[in-house]
Amino acid sequence: MNKIPFITKEKAEEIAKSYPTPFYLYDEKGIRENASAVKEAFAWNPGFKEYFAVKATPNPCLIQILREYGCGCDCSSMTELMLSKAMGVVGEDIMFSSNDTPAQEYAYAARLGAIINLDDITHIDFVENILGKLPETMSCRYNPGGVFQMSNGIMDNPGDSKYGFTTEQMFQGFRILKERGVKNFGIHAFLASNTVTNEYYPVLAKQLFELAVQLKQETGAHIKFINLSGGVGIPYQPDQKGNDIKAIGEGVRSVFEEILVPAGMGDVSIYTEMGRFMMGPYGQLVTKALHEKHTHKEYIGVDACAVNLMRPAMYGAYHHITVLGKEEEPCEYKYDITGSLCENNDKFAVDRMLPRIEKGDYLVIHDTGAHGYAMGYNYNGKLKSAELLLKEDGSVEMIRRAETPEDYFATLDCLPLYQKLKEEFEAE
Ligand SMILES: *Cc1c(COP(=O)(O)O)cnc(C)c1O
Repeated sequence: MNKIPFITKEKAEEIAKSYPTPFYLYDEKGIRENASAVKEAFAWNPGFKEYFAVKATPNPCLIQILREYGCGCDCSSMTELMLSKAMGVVGEDIMFSSNDTPAQEYAYAARLGAIINLDDITHIDFVENILGKLPETMSCRYNPGGVFQMSNGIMDNPGDSKYGFTTEQMFQGFRILKERGVKNFGIHAFLASNTVTNEYYPVLAKQLFELAVQLKQETGAHIKFINLSGGVGIPYQPDQKGNDIKAIGEGVRSVFEEILVPAGMGDVSIYTEMGRFMMGPYGQLVTKALHEKHTHKEYIGVDACAVNLMRPAMYGAYHHITVLGKEEEPCEYKYDITGSLCENNDKFAVDRMLPRIEKGDYLVIHDTGAHGYAMGYNYNGKLKSAELLLKEDGSVEMIRRAETPEDYFATLDCLPLYQKLKEEFEAE
């Protein structure tokens, strides 16, 4: 897949006059086209709903765009619930797929009317104690253990993951929930991450549909929805072929018709909780080359760092890089592209072949629209960048301002020193 920057060098220079680098840029057109394709791909299922995984890109302006395509919010914390509520996303438009959940978060989720997706069988009692009475609709997260395999080999390792109920606990859990008044049931599972194959959802769906049929037969539970959760990946590498959401939707339809329809369960709704697939390719981190350093290796130091994008440092993740204005130049120079943290893993690329980079060049780091800005932190006192939206008409709107030193110091407002800092900010 050819990696194309959303903007030219000239446009980057123009934007940087109002919004200094580094900044995140999101492509409204791409977000809309993809959201529409997702909706289309599952249109065969009347109850289909994508609950966007808020954690991936917690920006209300972007989530508002997804709302136009029928998306709800998948939340897993208090502040994600608050953010959803502030956008007017409440009731069954919220899926609360949390784990190790504090009592007050369950209470708040219930107050908003969110669907609660339990991560563990012991949480049945926990939630009942908090709420007095269980909600009519509840979901359980499933973890079959072992390894999750597809035709191309092992994909992921659910047996080693902290999430979900075992198979036996699913049956036991459904029986208990039913006895305690739950009327509608959901089944959820997230068994492999960033899958770049059209097979993942259909293989997962088959496993969950077979389980659903058994759960219905053995417990008599009414299964309202099956939530395939996230895990649909994107091609970070330029030579990878991306997923075809239409083919994925058809793959799920085929197992739906094979397993659920004959079991009299053709009314089950399919839910998804995609984050990466909805936003990943539609965000780019734009940064500027500040320094070149020639020592044991060739380094280009940029003005973004792992605080702005943690994936390369955290997982060694590949993110493609384009040097603006040099798109057609041959990649003849080998660089490490570094940030300024006092951490040697603060590198956006290692031994990457790129065109010759000069100080002042703009670099675009691709596929950072999900789990990019959101994973940011403040190590070394570094501040998080602004988020900008490139609108369909070519204009740019700021959808989150950059952090300031005052934000960094704000949590010290218990100290007299803070007052002094504040006076100094104001004097500047
Ligand atoms: C992270 C997460 C998602 C989104 O995953 P993606 O890989 O971004 O699609 C969905 N559901 C849950 C419960 C998650 O933790």
